[in-house]
Amino acid sequence: MRYFSTRDKKLNFSFREIFSRGLAPDGGLFIPSEIKKYSDSELKSLQDLSYTDLATEIISNFCSPDLDKQKLKILVSKAYNNFATKEVVKIKKVGDIYLLELYHGPTLAFKDIAMQVIGNLYDELNIADKKKVNIVVATSGDTGSAAISALNDRNNINVFVLHPHNKISKTQRKIMTTIGSTNIYNIAIKGNFDDCQKIVKEMFSDNRFREKINMSGVNSINWARIICQIVYYFYTYFKLSKKTNFAVPTGNFGDIYAGYVAKKMGLPMGKLIVATNQNDILTRTINSGEYKLSEVRSTLTPSMDIQISSNFERLLFDISERSEKKVINLMNDLQNQGSFSLEEKAVNIIKDIFDAEAIDDDETIRIIRDFFNNFGFILDPHTATAVGASYKVKNSLSTVVLGTAHPYKFADTVKIAINRDVSTPNQIAELPKKKEKFDILDNNLQKVKNYILEKIQ
Ligand SMILES: *Cc1c(COP(=O)(O)O)cnc(C)c1O
Repeated sequence: MRYFSTRDKKLNFSFREIFSRGLAPDGGLFIPSEIKKYSDSELKSLQDLSYTDLATEIISNFCSPDLDKQKLKILVSKAYNNFATKEVVKIKKVGDIYLLELYHGPTLAFKDIAMQVIGNLYDELNIADKKKVNIVVATSGDTGSAAISALNDRNNINVFVLHPHNKISKTQRKIMTTIGSTNIYNIAIKGNFDDCQKIVKEMFSDNRFREKINMSGVNSINWARIICQIVYYFYTYFKLSKKTNFAVPTGNFGDIYAGYVAKKMGLPMGKLIVATNQNDILTRTINSGEYKLSEVRSTLTPSMDIQISSNFERLLFDISERSEKKVINLMNDLQNQGSFSLEEKAVNIIKDIFDAEAIDDDETIRIIRDFFNNFGFILDPHTATAVGASYKVKNSLSTVVLGTAHPYKFADTVKIAINRDVSTPNQIAELPKKKEKFDILDNNLQKVKNYILEKIQ
C-alpha cells in the first residue's frame, strides 16, 4: 500500500513510514492511494467474526507489505486483552437509539481502541530499534491518557504530552499525570487545545528539530488511528444486521472520518451525524459551506473544544476531486484570512453523507438528566451531545450513537445534571491515592522545544 499527502499526490510512502511520521512533510495528511471496497458477498464473509478477527481483516488492508496478517492478529489480540469487555465494545439499545460503548479500555475513552494497537505497532515495526523515539502529542484530555497507557515503559520511547492547563477534567488529568514512569512527560500549556496542537504541528514541520529528536506522533491525524476506528462501524453493522445512521461526538474529525472511510469500503450506512458543542465550526461548515475560525470556548465537553479540525482536510481532499491544488488553496485561505469557502458541488457531496448539529452546555446537561430519568442510563457529556444530535435528525433509520467516554471521567458534570456520583470503574480504582507529576509551560514553541531537548539529553 502506497501513501501520499493531501497536498502532494506524488509522494510515495510506506505504511511503516507514515505510521512513524504521523504528518506528511508538506504539512498535509497522509492518505492511502487506494481503498479496498468490499462486495456484498465479501461483507457476508466478515459478518460473524469476533471483534479482534474483524479488526485484523480491516486493518490488514492498509499495512501490507510491512506487516503480515498473522503478526497483526497477535498484536491486535494483545492490544485488546486488557479491555474490560472481551468483545472490546458493547452495543446497548436504550430507548430509540443504540449506544455503542467504546470506553471499556484502560483509560475509559474510545481513544484506547486505536492507541493500544498503536503501542504494539511501535514494537512490531521496530520503529525505536536503532534510535530513541520521542513522541510528542497534544491532547484535549483523552488522547494523552490513552497514549500514555499504550506507550508507558516501552523500550527506547519517550512520550511528551501537551495538555491545556486547567482546561481538562480532574480525572482526565490524573489518569495522565499519575503514571510514574520515567519515559513519560506531562506538560500543561497555558493556552487551549488548539495552541497545544499548533505547537506539535510546528515541531513536525521543523525538519531539523524533528530529525534531531527523532520525533514521532500519535495524534488523531495518524492514519493508524483512523484504521483502527473503522472496525467498530463494521462490527456494529454486523451485530445489528441493518443499515443505521451513526451519530459521533466530534472534535478533530478523526472518529467520524473513520465512519466515512467505512462507507467508502462498502459498508451500508445512513447518515453520519456530526455532533459538536458551542465550538461549532464543523456544524457551520457542513450547513453553510464556510469554514470560519472563531475563538475556542471552554465547554462541558472539553475533548471537543477545537476550532482547527485537522482530519477534515482528508475529507476536503475527497470532495475537491482529489485535487491537491484545491486543498492547498483552501488551506492557504485558512492560514491567511481565517476561513475558506467550499464550492457548492462540494457542499452538496458533504450534505449527502453528513448531517451536523451543535449542542450547547445547557442542552447537554438536560440530555444527561432526561436520559437518566427515562432510562436509568448515565451518559458522559460528549456522548450526550451525539444523543442530542441524533434526536434532531429525521430519517427513517435507527441511529447508533458512539459513546466516546465513560461518565466517570466527567463526574463533576454528571453530578450537576443528575445529582449523583458515578461509581469508580475498576480500571482506575487506585487513582485517588496516586501522586501527580506535571510541568506548566507558557504557550511558546521555543520554550517547549527547550524543555524537550533538556529532558532527552
Ligand atoms: C477525542 C474525543 C472526541 C472527539 O473525537 P475526534 O476523533 O477528535 O473527532 C469526542 N469525545 C471524546 C470523549 C473524546 O475523547
